[in-house]
Amino acid sequence: QVPVLAVEHVKKTFGKTDVLKDITETVHNGEVICLIGPSGAGKSTFLRCLNMLDEPTAGSVVFEGNDLTKMDDKHLDQLREEMGMVFQSFNLFPHMSVLENIKLAPMKVKGVDDATATKTANALLDQVGLADKADAFPANLSGGQQQRVAIARALAMNPKVMLFDEPTSALDPEMVGEVLKVMQDLASEGMTMVVVTHEMGFARNVADKVWFMADGYIQESATPSAFFDHP
Ligand code: ADP
Ligand code: ADP
Repeated sequence: QVPVLAVEHVKKTFGKTDVLKDITETVHNGEVICLIGPSGAGKSTFLRCLNMLDEPTAGSVVFEGNDLTKMDDKHLDQLREEMGMVFQSFNLFPHMSVLENIKLAPMKVKGVDDATATKTANALLDQVGLADKADAFPANLSGGQQQRVAIARALAMNPKVMLFDEPTSALDPEMVGEVLKVMQDLASEGMTMVVVTHEMGFARNVADKVWFMADGYIQESATPSAFFDHP
């Protein structure tokens, strides 16, 4: 089976700092991977290299057989549409309703018609438990609700893989669970996911594989049980 993502000897240097030193890993269809490790290890940079938000200094990132490091911008943009990304900060458009936020990319980028986009957006809102918030504006939602909208918005592009960069780190503690629940549901539906997180409970219970990163390397790649129970 061809991996969804294959990272080969990726390095990333900022100025004189080697942030990613030599990373080779694969992500297979339906896999949930939690990328954990100390602050400054390079987790966020690595995640951003997977969709070329950060361009690797060396090595290749192969997404469904296409080497993203060798693509022209047009093809890269097309492939990026198949990778949903959720950040620590929700980045919703403040002047748009929840529904409009979710509909925007499918309509603008994919040319989906209004009625279809509305139908999909409402179904996604239902999926993230916010069916009654379609007409609300981001400022009137809690952080946990905004992050669930951000997840719905990423899903609206029908991605093949979802990348999460510390999706619960900016939330008040009481809202972390509702976002993790949505992510867990997504995982159990078979979504391929790479999640940078400090939520060890999520990593232990939901991940198929844990990547432990420190000092610019993935030092260990193991099942949660091997990682947490037999360290
Ligand atoms: P983590 O996500 O594990 O906390 P990061 O990938 O955010 O780690 O950062 C790893 C290192 O790379 C840090 O020292 C950070 O300051 C540095 N870094 C990240 N992005 C940049 C950038 N755009 N320019 C320079 N240094 C950066
Ligand atoms: P996070 O902890 O959410 O990864 P950071 O504060 O590490 O956020 O980084 C926020 C942004 O600043 C990112 O785009 C990152 O690439 C950039 N960045 C981080 N460290 C540096 C740095 N030392 N110099 C320049 N840009 C940086």
